Amino acid sequence: MTELAERLRWLRGGAAPVRYTARTIAALTANPGCARRGLLDAAGVDKKALADRLGHPARFGQSRFAITRTLGFEARLKADGYAELLAAVALDGARVVTVELTIDIAGEPAALEPDLVLLRAAGRLHVVQVKSFAVVDGQAPGDKVAAAARQAAVHVLALRRLGHDTSHEVYLVCPENFSNAPVANLVDVRRELGVLERQLARLTRVSDLAEGLPDGATAEEAVERVPARYAPECLAACELAFYCRQEARCAGETDTLGRSVRDAVGGVATVAEVRALAAGGASAEHPEIAELLATARTLRAEATS
Ligand code: SF4
Repeated sequence: MTELAERLRWLRGGAAPVRYTARTIAALTANPGCARRGLLDAAGVDKKALADRLGHPARFGQSRFAITRTLGFEARLKADGYAELLAAVALDGARVVTVELTIDIAGEPAALEPDLVLLRAAGRLHVVQVKSFAVVDGQAPGDKVAAAARQAAVHVLALRRLGHDTSHEVYLVCPENFSNAPVANLVDVRRELGVLERQLARLTRVSDLAEGLPDGATAEEAVERVPARYAPECLAACELAFYCRQEARCAGETDTLGRSVRDAVGGVATVAEVRALAAGGASAEHPEIAELLATARTLRAEATS
């Protein structure tokens, strides 16, 4: 075992690694500045169990009802050699194939959960994304379609990097109206592929993240030592969100107010600093922001007096 593999095994407490899914890679690349998540995901740490141990359990995920609905829909599509799915997709000569998927994450190869349906037709691979949200009168919830497109892009990219000719148009298969009958729609994921490639390139190498940890460091120690980059979006995407939010609030970080506020205050890290600048404090590091904040404070005072 290499030294890095040994360090990652310590982080897992010796347990088997949790495998990546397209959903977890899409979520990881949504916050490429978070070294903490990058390291824990690379090690395959069970973040849900870790959040429990840290006293801030995760509160997101599908409801029991939604999980049952998803499993029922997937079972229906798998029946009779995917007969209904193939009929919905209506792609000439298509057959279902399986491919073992790996993708490099932060410099390390990661195995992907084999949770996708893949079609081969005329020598080309086509990714099928099965989702249990309904398409009603031809309309599907935009945020859910966008999330499905990001996940499908992970599969397309992994296949292409393994040398497979893979279409950038993926089939999104969902239940139609209020029945469980499948309907397929083509989604172009070229934009998502571009974003994903850029974000993957921005991830810090795992070996660099693990380097500063003492021998035998556990996941809890890693959480204390490796910096996070909390944003409210973490609440829907990462099991550690409640822990990181608490930490960021205690430190008074502007990150807790959302990316738009953080960007608007131009890199000033804490709410206390923002208030000091708005009160007229000088800043050699952020002179323009200091001026803007002081002006904003004056305008507000005038408007409310
Ligand atoms: S919740 Fe914490 S660990 Fe997860 S991505 Fe956000 S900041 Fe990083």
